[in-house]
Amino acid sequence: MTISYAFSEFETIKYIPRRQLYKAFQRACDRWSKVIPVTFVEAKTIESANITIRFIALWCKGESLAYCYMCGKQAGVNFDATTKWTVKQSLFSDTFDSNTYNFESTAVHEIGHLLGMRHSPNMNSVMYRTSLGKMNLSREDVEKIREPIHLSPVPTVSPATSTAEMRYMVMM
Ligand SMILES: [Zn+2]
Repeated sequence: MTISYAFSEFETIKYIPRRQLYKAFQRACDRWSKVIPVTFVEAKTIESANITIRFIALWCKGESLAYCYMCGKQAGVNFDATTKWTVKQSLFSDTFDSNTYNFESTAVHEIGHLLGMRHSPNMNSVMYRTSLGKMNLSREDVEKIREPIHLSPVPTVSPATSTAEMRYMVMM
């Protein structure tokens, strides 16, 4: 299965080059692709994308970094535009301050939701509710994503009003 994604041209952040955002998102996707037969590719246009990615000011400012949603065949990830993001691959590099969040790590988490993953109470999991900058899937993450229920991701899942959708509306 192939899932395409695209970033909004207008609802975005200016201080990270677009190409770097794409690369970081692809790296996040690839972490899941390594363990399940799902491939993520850049969509040619945002209209044709399975997943739309936007940076918007989230209503729950300061509490949430991102959320994802699914509505029929459309899915999206919205990142908080007021959060300071980095695409550096190490969360703990010299230049970090505590208000900077790792885009790739957050993307791994949100993609996990889109693939059917719920939050994990385990701090080693990329599905832990709070951002700890984790990017590597834990053994538990790999086992869970490989469970058969998780192998019907984005384009085929759930009409808009089902409880399945609600499950994905969970905040980061
Ligand atoms: Zn979450």
